[in-house]
Amino acid sequence: MIPAAPLPLQPEPLPAAATASPASAPRWQRLWRDAVRDPRELLGLLGLDAAAAGISDAAAAGFPLRVPRGFVARMRPGDLADPLLRQVLPVDLEERIVPGFSLDAVGDGAARKAEGVIQKYRGRALLVATGSCAVHCRYCFRRHFPYAEETAARDGWAAAVAAIAEDPSIDEVILSGGDPLSLATPKLAELTARLAAIPHLRRLRIHSRLPVVLPERVDAELLHWLSALPWPVAFVIHANHANEFDASVDAALAALRGAGVQLLNQAVLLRGVNDHVDALADLSQRCFAAGVLPYYLHQLDRVQGVAHFEVPDEQARALHAALAARLSGYLVPKLVREIPGDTGKRPL
Ligand SMILES: *Cc1c(COP(=O)(O)O)cnc(C)c1O
Ligand code: SF4
Repeated sequence: MIPAAPLPLQPEPLPAAATASPASAPRWQRLWRDAVRDPRELLGLLGLDAAAAGISDAAAAGFPLRVPRGFVARMRPGDLADPLLRQVLPVDLEERIVPGFSLDAVGDGAARKAEGVIQKYRGRALLVATGSCAVHCRYCFRRHFPYAEETAARDGWAAAVAAIAEDPSIDEVILSGGDPLSLATPKLAELTARLAAIPHLRRLRIHSRLPVVLPERVDAELLHWLSALPWPVAFVIHANHANEFDASVDAALAALRGAGVQLLNQAVLLRGVNDHVDALADLSQRCFAAGVLPYYLHQLDRVQGVAHFEVPDEQARALHAALAARLSGYLVPKLVREIPGDTGKRPL
């Protein structure tokens, strides 16, 4: 078991140059810093009464609220049940201790291959590029993982790159985190320049929620980096509800496609967010309209503090069957759960 970090997923310190003269920092870094971090401010922006919202200062102390203002703008004012708000608001239900919900539910602690490198499945090495995220999702299993101290970037990527170079069975590197795109683009370019020297790599994958929660991250510098990569790139975004998309997200996704990446979406099945066949169908259709194919619908990882989001397996299977009965096959994501020790995500 991995001890809980006091403050996981903290924002990456900005480069000295950026802090010294904010005007010269990329625009996305300024928007990142300007995120809403106070639950009462968030509720105020939505015209909601903080006293009635069940917000928890204890939950927010363990895993702080963080949400970019552009994402807040997509929430429905005056609606405490808004599916986007529910994903980010720290509430007292998180403090319940529920049997079966642990601190390292997905076995990442046991699958560590080198500093910041996790390998659970054949051929694919997951690289924890950073512990930071632009948004803090309450249901996230990473809320308990001390990724802030355990990233591949710490020693200029040397140990992580060496571990991948030594193992010719690895043909795909997955940049993950936290959110790998929370790193400045030159830092990412430094990593991929090192990886490019490894002959057995054939694909690069990026797991990022940033095109959805902070689409401004998809700027000219990022697109230039992506288009110049020497491998085919799978770019897996993360959206749980159709309302997470707007014109700015569409534009970011179109630009990513223009840079030649294959776009996929992974979602988490969440009670009170998307546990209805209409919501899931809308999500798939909205993804496709934005050029994104549904990939996975994850059953929740059973970590402490997230039990109130759980959808029972039986209901999950029924929802998935109803979705398959309604949509084109390519719009139906695979319903999976992660079981420690398995050779891949397990279909339900
Ligand atoms: C989910 C995951 C992957 C990717 O699995 P795919 O089924 O290929 O999407 C790779 N490594 C780790 C550690 C994972 O958790
Ligand atoms: S779900 Fe993704 S974006 Fe959200 S907190 Fe977890 S790692 Fe970060």
